[in-house]
Amino acid sequence: MADLVLKPGREKSLLRRHPWVFSGAVHHLNGDPASGETVDLLSFQGDFLARAAYSPHSQIRARVWTFDPDERVNPDFFQQRIRAAIEMRETLGFACEWSKGVQRDVTNAYRLIYAESDGIPGLIVDRYSEMLVLQSLTAGSEYWKETLADILLEETGLSSIYERSDADVRALEGMQSIALTIRGPELRSPVTINEDDLKFKVNLSGGQKTGFYLDQRQNRLRVRELANGRDALDCFCYSGGFTLNALAGGASAVVAVDSSAEALALGRENVSLNGEQAERVEWREGDVFQELRKFRDEGRSFDLVILDPPKFAPTAAQAEKASRGYKDINLLAFKLLRPGGLLVTFSCSGGVDAALFQKIVASAALDAGVEAQIVEHLSQAADHPVALHFPEAAYLKGLICIRK
Ligand code: SAH
Repeated sequence: MADLVLKPGREKSLLRRHPWVFSGAVHHLNGDPASGETVDLLSFQGDFLARAAYSPHSQIRARVWTFDPDERVNPDFFQQRIRAAIEMRETLGFACEWSKGVQRDVTNAYRLIYAESDGIPGLIVDRYSEMLVLQSLTAGSEYWKETLADILLEETGLSSIYERSDADVRALEGMQSIALTIRGPELRSPVTINEDDLKFKVNLSGGQKTGFYLDQRQNRLRVRELANGRDALDCFCYSGGFTLNALAGGASAVVAVDSSAEALALGRENVSLNGEQAERVEWREGDVFQELRKFRDEGRSFDLVILDPPKFAPTAAQAEKASRGYKDINLLAFKLLRPGGLLVTFSCSGGVDAALFQKIVASAALDAGVEAQIVEHLSQAADHPVALHFPEAAYLKGLICIRK
């Protein structure tokens, strides 16, 4: 096996169990590992630090599989990690009865494997009813992909995997974009999933992320609990996740805005799929930044506003520009809120931490001239865990504010 030897003193983050080695920390490489092959990480003094996947093209040159010198990286190793990830979801109450038709009416779409957080950097696997959707994002997960796919089927008893490795980050690893069925019969999209007692059509082959924003499940339920009798505005509504929950929770009406016509079309289908009256929702295709200004100019107001924008700042480098974007939409949202109204506002930007997000929302309220209280802090759903030594996995932060 090849060795990657670090510069003096650059072993510190590994000793704290952070799983990444940046190229700048590397002193030299002994051997000629292929992309994704396993290498030993050694300190400059030659001490074993970890066993990792080698990424020759990425700034993140290696990602740790194990810190245990006695643990081999082989199919058994991955089987154990996958089993542990599935058991953890079972502990959380997700239905892992895989055979067809079982537990039809409970949540059957959730994240099964969440990369570093589950000890398998680069691998994301989401379950959508009987279909697994796999994303391989790094050289290491790519190297083991066929093995991982076989183990996933064995451990779940399912027979189909669709690969959605079309995220931009693959380019950083020198890998091409892939979207195709890799196990089982050809995917027939959309598939219908259950989230709690609601049904959603999900476009697995072309939808955003792996098809659905599974990370917002718990927050959608919270919105349902708070929606009764409220006149709601769902900004960045995608296929209607929050809209459907607001309706189920008794919202009097919902205005749902997104720039994607495809997402809105799916949203409309989801309303009728759940037997809700189509007239309760006004779907608006447009740019939220502009639509909010139109609402302001028309003097419209709401008593529940949801802001769930896409990532404005993937990394800290874009934080400043992103902050302006967040401030703008939050300021406008506060202006549209009636007294006693609720603002449910999110950021999924890795580059904007919870403290900064709270500051942005506070200054938005100040500039809007409204007084508000934070009544709840929200985060990503439990099937998107955060390994204690990998805080980067916690990307979603949300606040519920009440306007006085
Ligand atoms: N709330 C959704 C997920 C939202 S994801 C859910 O729970 O399922 C972000 C959405 O913002 C995407 O649907 C994307 O199409 C939309 N979007 C991105 N930029 C936009 C803009 N400027 N105006 C309106 N919609 C936008």
